Amino acid sequence: MDGTEAAARKGIETLKTGGGALAAALEATVVLEDDPRFNAGTGANIRLDGRTVQMDAAVMDGSTGDFGAVAALEGVKNPARVALKVMESPHLLLAGEGAQRFARVMGFPPYDPICPENRARFERLKQLLAEADRGNSELEAWTGYDWRKAWNFPRPLKEALVELLGHPDTVGAVARDAQGRYAAAISTGGTSITFYGRVGDVPIFGAGIYAGPRGAVACTGHGEEIIKRLVAKSVYDDLARGLHPQKAVDRALRNVPPSVGMGIIAVGDLGDGAGCNLDGPRKGSYRGTQRMAWSLAR
Ligand code: ASP
Repeated sequence: MDGTEAAARKGIETLKTGGGALAAALEATVVLEDDPRFNAGTGANIRLDGRTVQMDAAVMDGSTGDFGAVAALEGVKNPARVALKVMESPHLLLAGEGAQRFARVMGFPPYDPICPENRARFERLKQLLAEADRGNSELEAWTGYDWRKAWNFPRPLKEALVELLGHPDTVGAVARDAQGRYAAAISTGGTSITFYGRVGDVPIFGAGIYAGPRGAVACTGHGEEIIKRLVAKSVYDDLARGLHPQKAVDRALRNVPPSVGMGIIAVGDLGDGAGCNLDGPRKGSYRGTQRMAWSLAR
């Protein structure tokens, strides 16, 4: 995908012009936040009420162990940049209104991430949900019946809807610089079908993101499942044990059932790795992130 290639180019340019791994991962992620096709920053998913956009983001510097994150943040253009400011503060994670007020104090102006791309995605979702609730002739029998509770297809309702929507993923980048330092950055609009205030894996230390002296890891997919498995930290632990990043990614993905969508990018001393456990339309975006991981690793 050209968006991830542009992000990788920005990351490499940052490294070539003297930026370290942290700056490279952050700048690559900002390119993706600014691309309305992705579910982060401008274009982040609109929640079920049709107007709320709550974003999570995090950055981690593997050489220092420093971490910063924001959760359920509204009204800023680049949550990943705010996460960097949190990293520079005594805290690790700021959420909701406090995160937004912190962003303003740090000089981030109000910004509306709603644009034609995320509005169109939301309209498709709305139509889809309304179809089953409306008493039109074809769906007469379903009127008043809570079809969601009776969902009995082998794969979860949310996953089916996500595919119908062509739901784009969380964005992120992992980087290694010439000094061998590692960093990761990650940003998301989360999922549309959630409660107000829901926070996913992205800003949770070791869940969607982790970096250390031996590598960096970033994840996308079903946030709750990523948190329960602390996926990024477990992949990193494998890198630190000397496993090739591709083997570490494959191992993590083998441990999740096919119903749990997940994608991972990683870079370490032995190279890089990327993968996802989904076939079909979403695979393309993982190939994109994979290219990004490769480019940044060189
Ligand atoms: N992992 C994100 C979250 O759960 C969503 C995604 O990657 O699509 O918030």
